[in-house]
Amino acid sequence: MTGTIIQGIGGFYTVMCGSDQYVLRPRGKLRRDKVTPMVGDNVAFTPGQGDQHGFLDDVLERRNWLTRPPVSNIDLIVLVISPLSPPPDLLLVDRMLLTARHAGISAILAINKREMDEGSSETLAEQYENAGLADILRVSAVSGEGIAGLRQRLNGCVHAFAGQSGVGKSSLINAMYARDLGVGDVSHRLSRGRHTTRRVELIPLGGGTMVLDTPGFSLLEMALADPVLLAGQMPEFEPYEGKCYFTPCAHVTEPGCAVREAVEAGAVSRERWQRYCEIHEDMRLRWRERYGK
Ligand code: GDP
Ligand code: ZN
Repeated sequence: MTGTIIQGIGGFYTVMCGSDQYVLRPRGKLRRDKVTPMVGDNVAFTPGQGDQHGFLDDVLERRNWLTRPPVSNIDLIVLVISPLSPPPDLLLVDRMLLTARHAGISAILAINKREMDEGSSETLAEQYENAGLADILRVSAVSGEGIAGLRQRLNGCVHAFAGQSGVGKSSLINAMYARDLGVGDVSHRLSRGRHTTRRVELIPLGGGTMVLDTPGFSLLEMALADPVLLAGQMPEFEPYEGKCYFTPCAHVTEPGCAVREAVEAGAVSRERWQRYCEIHEDMRLRWRERYGK
């Protein structure tokens, strides 16, 4: 049989298959092959008899994975920002967007708390129009605007919420799913053990829809990567690839850089480019620290 790991605790994994759940232990062979199953993995398994646990036989190929939080096969990341309280940390948004793209996971941007400041919400949306997002949605967990649309967009997807603390991730999850789970407040369930553990769990919502609960991880952290690869994750740079004087060009300070010319001409958002430079510099320093070049 095959199913999806939704939870792992103390060497046991809970696997969802249809609407049934099985508690499994990995076969010794997996350990010997140094395969560590992760939440989100599709696996082949043998169910147990009666009260006995079954066995996790094999981990099937992963479509994508993240290391922090440790999870695989995510269909969609919902990056949440708000125009006010807290003020948007766009450097963080861009970092997470780059992380998602680097991992090969689509992201949508949910601009929450829109009822607080519609003008700033639009300015945010404009800045991200060319950032290669699968969608930009305007929502409000308080007024209910856009909630049905967001839910519709996430239907059938294994998805994760990411974003600064206080932007309304739990509120959006509650607004969408509290009724399905038959509890008054999903965040109650979602925040269980928030301060003590860093346990990752997928919560099944029916019809293949699952939301990732990530206590202790409010962010996606970017794995260390060669800074040269970073520019390739900026969709708005794509039309200028190969048109710079130098190849490769980091599009930071090089003379004759086509991306910088596009920034000057207003064809590429200056703010996005500036944050890219900041992230690039940061990654360059980390890379040099690790590899000495
Ligand atoms: P999280 O840290 O991202 O999970 O954020 P929470 O869901 O805990 O929300 C943080 C605060 O923002 C809470 O006081 C919420 O009531 C409030 N909040 C969430 N969504 C909205 C919204 O759409 N509009 C307004 N005005 N407040 C919101
Ligand atoms: Zn360039």
